[in-house]
Amino acid sequence: MLTNVVIVGGGTSGWMSASYLKAAFGDRLSVTVLESKRIKTIGVGEATFSTVRHFFDYLGLPEHVWMPKCNATYKLGIRFENWHRKGSYFYHPFERLRVVDGFPLTDWWLHRKPGNSERFDQDVFLMSAICDAERSPRYMDGTLFEQDFKEQTDPKDRKPERSTLTEQDTQFPYAYQFDASLLADYLCAYSTERGVRHIEDDVVEVARDDRGWIGHLRTREHGEVTADLFIDCTGFKGLLLNEALEEPVISFQDTLPNDRAVALRVPVDMEKRGLRPCTTATAQDAGWIWTIPLFGRIGTGYVYASDYTTPEEAERTLREFVGPDAKDVEANHIRMRIGRSRNAWVNNCVAVGLSSGFVEPLESTGIFFIQQGIEQLVKHFPGADWNPQLRDSYNRAIGNTIDGVREFLVMHYRGAGRNDNQYWKDAKTRALPDGLAERLDMWRSKLPTTETIFPNYHGFEPYSYHSMLLGLGGVDLKAPPALALMDDSAAQAEFKLLRAQSQELAKRLPSQYEYLAQMH
Ligand code: FAD
Repeated sequence: MLTNVVIVGGGTSGWMSASYLKAAFGDRLSVTVLESKRIKTIGVGEATFSTVRHFFDYLGLPEHVWMPKCNATYKLGIRFENWHRKGSYFYHPFERLRVVDGFPLTDWWLHRKPGNSERFDQDVFLMSAICDAERSPRYMDGTLFEQDFKEQTDPKDRKPERSTLTEQDTQFPYAYQFDASLLADYLCAYSTERGVRHIEDDVVEVARDDRGWIGHLRTREHGEVTADLFIDCTGFKGLLLNEALEEPVISFQDTLPNDRAVALRVPVDMEKRGLRPCTTATAQDAGWIWTIPLFGRIGTGYVYASDYTTPEEAERTLREFVGPDAKDVEANHIRMRIGRSRNAWVNNCVAVGLSSGFVEPLESTGIFFIQQGIEQLVKHFPGADWNPQLRDSYNRAIGNTIDGVREFLVMHYRGAGRNDNQYWKDAKTRALPDGLAERLDMWRSKLPTTETIFPNYHGFEPYSYHSMLLGLGGVDLKAPPALALMDDSAAQAEFKLLRAQSQELAKRLPSQYEYLAQMH
């Protein structure tokens, strides 16, 4: 039996891994987190995916317990601004599509837009109106807004279930946005209270044994540290997996050229400003700017390609975008390693987080990759025989997840209506990952289905592809010819019903600020 795990790194991935392993294995596994006091964490990574709720549930943490400690807010989706053309916006929410007579509402929308509407997202999703009105997804008594979602009880009474990503059957309607440093502190306290050992020190050498496996780590002040299994959470450096074990990184730079970011943490008065329940991604001349509203500040940053602009120009653009609130705030300039380790698990080392792989944060997938990395590790946890089948299956699952998201993101650029400068023009002619060109061709005639999207689990379902293809506006899409032979009165009635329901919800739900102020 393996009984001893050492995690190197105390960022989001290190502490998520430690707390998850404790929740899974309790005292049967000894877990140590070894983190440098000197080397800072990346300091960003604050918007998530709706499936992150499985993580908090698995740890047994209800919202009202952890959210106030991490200045967390609700995220109902992503608002994409200026991607189709300057001045336009649409939402990509966490909401599956309604189906009428066997066709999703998006097909019906392409066939005949209700009232000649130009806002498909308002016509097919409830969430667009709720986001526009800056509402909370919960009423003041804690119940979730009326929908066919599983959970209808007060969140304080709800017993978290120990489910994981790949078993999700219903679509949960929101994710969270939180302060990454506060979350790391919170999970550190959670883990150490449950017996995780915490060492603050630098790893100065990774020693390999005769087989080439990691034998021990040499630290500056705590001597040698040994383990059965080492988890590399050292960020883009990949100190154990990439540097010591020399596992190569497969770069995605040829298809996703954004390689840098500059970030700001901007304090704002949320009571005055309001609290949008979504992350915003605003297209720029050489990339895009994220805006993540937390309780008490916004996290914002410009993700850009260094082939098209300089760090100074990017920082200037970001500061102008944010306005006077950013005046005295220090900028964090970040180089991004876009790509993935060829194998996340090599010998007795598994990389989780940025060391495993990263694509630009356009769909907030970094923390989702961590969750998938650690959930799959528990499912594939090695026995004393180090069965290579478990390792290979793990590596396939992680590789597929990251490759699938990469493909989805490349589609954002290829599909964007923007074509007004060299950056956006080049996005239309750049190489595509294998298979995407054929899939795009197919989607022009028939919107994506589970059979025609990237074939392996990567977190995104067909509704996300529909949302992006219709919203981005750069790909000509056709309604299925069959709809011309069908009676569309049921579909038009559904559009009308959905519009009435969303307007009603936007009126009745409290503002997100009001709801969270009560929780805090
Ligand atoms: P890091 O935070 O870099 O932590 C590395 C740790 O390793 C540190 O504790 C450091 O001290 C330690 N370490 C390094 N070397 C040594 C050593 N020699 N000895 C001991 N310890 C060592 N993800 C999302 O889900 N949503 C987002 O909105 C999002 N936005 C992002 C925006 C940008 C610009 C970037 C770059 C990433 C974003 N991500 C996002 C990804 C997210 O930030 C990361 O997945 C997450 O923070 C995990 O980082 P990490 O823990 O792997 O690495």
